[in-house]
Amino acid sequence: MCYKIALTLTGLWLTLASSLHGETLKVLIVDGQNNHDWKATTPLLKEELESSGMFQVDVATAPPGADTSGFRPNFTAYRAVLSNYNGADWPRETQQALIEYVKSGGGLVIVHAANNSFPTWKEYNEMIGLGGWGGRNEASGPYIRYRNGKIVRDTSAGAGGHHGAQHPFQIVIRNAAHPITAGMPMAWLHETDELYDQLRGPAQNMTVLATAYADPQQGGSGEHEPMIFTIDYGQGRVFHTPMGHSPKAIQCVGFVVTLQRGTEWAATGKVTNTKLPDDFPAADRVSLRK
Ligand code: ZN
Repeated sequence: MCYKIALTLTGLWLTLASSLHGETLKVLIVDGQNNHDWKATTPLLKEELESSGMFQVDVATAPPGADTSGFRPNFTAYRAVLSNYNGADWPRETQQALIEYVKSGGGLVIVHAANNSFPTWKEYNEMIGLGGWGGRNEASGPYIRYRNGKIVRDTSAGAGGHHGAQHPFQIVIRNAAHPITAGMPMAWLHETDELYDQLRGPAQNMTVLATAYADPQQGGSGEHEPMIFTIDYGQGRVFHTPMGHSPKAIQCVGFVVTLQRGTEWAATGKVTNTKLPDDFPAADRVSLRK
């Protein structure tokens, strides 16, 4: 009798514990090539996800150089794949595996220069919505800008991908109804970063959640540029932020929260941890994770 009660209680406790904490979401970070310091940023991205208690993160590192033929991560073992990769093309089989993975419901997370990668891979550009450099131009798709209270597709000719000087800049929420941005201050100051402007791409099934003004005084485009956005691709969800140039930019508390929420949303379509930390940045104050 006592044994049965103990078992029942254990079962109840496990049920309660799992409903309190949710399932642990497995995430795969892909890296190995980047014109940025991926050896410094990947461990930070991993730590920021795992410190939430919601994720368990593995890393798949592609070999250096043009021959990536041995790079075949098992995407399907994960709820989301986070790209910190900007480099040589992957083998066709690996590209196809990522397409199928997202199409059939997997999550994809794009951070900063990952949107420079693979300029000629059509489906990758459809998945990420917008990208920069690598010869991208008006043939890649429109610029996406926020003008006079709405999102505008700007098809004028020009290069895709540019940035001015690094500086702190305000992230302005344009869609507070989405779970990734819900409850955030309508403007918050992001720590010193590269503000990517003039990105272009297919931008289909894309939802812009936040923008930043690329100030011409800092060498920027003079436009309000997408900084937090999502793309629906097949059954899958893509969370994309052009923020995250350096370890310092990645340690911005606003970036950390955006990354945690965006990755959970890409993995599950929901955000369960809706409480903002007390040290979340304000409109005029940056905040760095200690
Ligand atoms: Zn950069």
